Amino acid sequence: MADPTPVEHGYSCQEVVELASEYLEGAMTTEQMTRFELHLNLCDGCFSFVEQVRATVAMAHVLPEEEISPAVKSKLLAAFKDWTRE
Ligand SMILES: [Zn+2]
Repeated sequence: MADPTPVEHGYSCQEVVELASEYLEGAMTTEQMTRFELHLNLCDGCFSFVEQVRATVAMAHVLPEEEISPAVKSKLLAAFKDWTRE
C-alpha cells in the first residue's frame, strides 16, 4: 500500500495542524520541517493557521505556561475546520 503522504507531497492539512507547535518550537527533524514547509507553500489555509499559532505562541511566552493550552489549540482547530468547509 502506498504512503498517502510521501515526502515530496508534504504533510496533510490535518498533520500540519497537529504539528504546528512542534514546528514553531523547532522540535522537528529536517525531514519533518521540509514536509511541513512544503505544505505551507501550497496551502494558504495552513499558512494562515501557522501564522495564528505563531502569534499565539508569542503571546503565551508572556505567561508562565509556554505550551499552547488545549483550549487554545481546540479553538484554532475549530477555526481551521471553518476554512476547509469553504
Ligand atoms: Zn493545508
